[in-house]
Amino acid sequence: MNILVFVESAEGKIKKTSLEAVAYANGMGGNVTALALGTVEAGELASLGKYGAKKVLHAGDAKLNDGVIQAYTNTIVQAMEAENADVLVLANSSLGTPVAARVSTKLGASIATNVTELPETSAGFVVKKSIYTGKAFSKVELKNAKKVIAIKKNAAEIKEVGSDVAPTTFAPQLTDADFAAKIVSTEKATGEILLPEANIVVSGGRGMKGPEHWGPIEELAKLLGAATGCSKPVSDIGWRPHHEHVGQTGVKVSPQLYIAVGISGAIQHLAGVNSSKCIVVINKDSEAPFFKAADYGIVGDAFDVLPKLIEAVKAG
Ligand code: FAD
Repeated sequence: MNILVFVESAEGKIKKTSLEAVAYANGMGGNVTALALGTVEAGELASLGKYGAKKVLHAGDAKLNDGVIQAYTNTIVQAMEAENADVLVLANSSLGTPVAARVSTKLGASIATNVTELPETSAGFVVKKSIYTGKAFSKVELKNAKKVIAIKKNAAEIKEVGSDVAPTTFAPQLTDADFAAKIVSTEKATGEILLPEANIVVSGGRGMKGPEHWGPIEELAKLLGAATGCSKPVSDIGWRPHHEHVGQTGVKVSPQLYIAVGISGAIQHLAGVNSSKCIVVINKDSEAPFFKAADYGIVGDAFDVLPKLIEAVKAG
């Protein structure tokens, strides 16, 4: 089985979710080729070999830096054809999912998004995927010869299994039509760590009483290398920016650790966090519904608990 992995990058670095995609493809046990687009540091490209890529293709045209979906789709389709690839694996990201849909249409491929586990191949080719915002799973048989699999964050463990691979230049045939939609400016969201990518999230709700009390949330997040999040009413009132709103109608996160402070745990909020590996809830009401979803709970006033938690983290 020949597997192509589309790897995403930002500011020259390969994204962690794409390293997970390489690890996933390696776990499938085929010939893994990684494809990176745009400007990527040479060491980053070569290191894909460590995580399981036997071959690394690089389409380094700077025009591909901007995540133009049409151009990405056609580059990936051409790489699939050049490598005689049966399967495309990529991250289930805001870039990965629209690219996956377009590539599958062009190749007549079976597609599964939000995939959480390696395929079962004893009877057909069956993948498990997360549905209903992580509340349930379904198994889907991918019947066509070509397959596209978009993997959910944390679906594969990144492990060093090999050594660096010298990248090979890949020159796709693209026309102006592939760049018909052009990004003219990008405004970076506040915060160093992007919420959908974060391994740790510290999130605040209406229990924080007002935007002037967000200092401890931000301090704790900084100490832990975490992104900050919030409940919907908090962003609706304007205490925090909308891109921090977590939940059914906001960002869906699946970090290793989600710390919820002064958030009640309404079903719509839980819909965005229930794929988190570990949930810690701080709430002064012991009956708050969030405690039912928590791995660890602290019943207490956030304004007492947060400073103690910050001191404890600082003390190491
Ligand atoms: P509250 O429900 O007011 O809870 C505040 C919590 O803080 C309480 O549990 C309280 O005990 C605790 N508290 C108060 N003071 C302190 C203190 N000093 N220390 C510790 N704890 C304290 N919500 C989302 O978050 N995300 C969504 O995507 C979303 N989508 C929605 C979609 C629809 C269609 C609808 C109808 C609603 C949606 N909601 C969403 C809103 C959701 O139903 C809840 O209203 C919301 O999540 C509640 O936010 P909260 O927990 O911050 O506030």
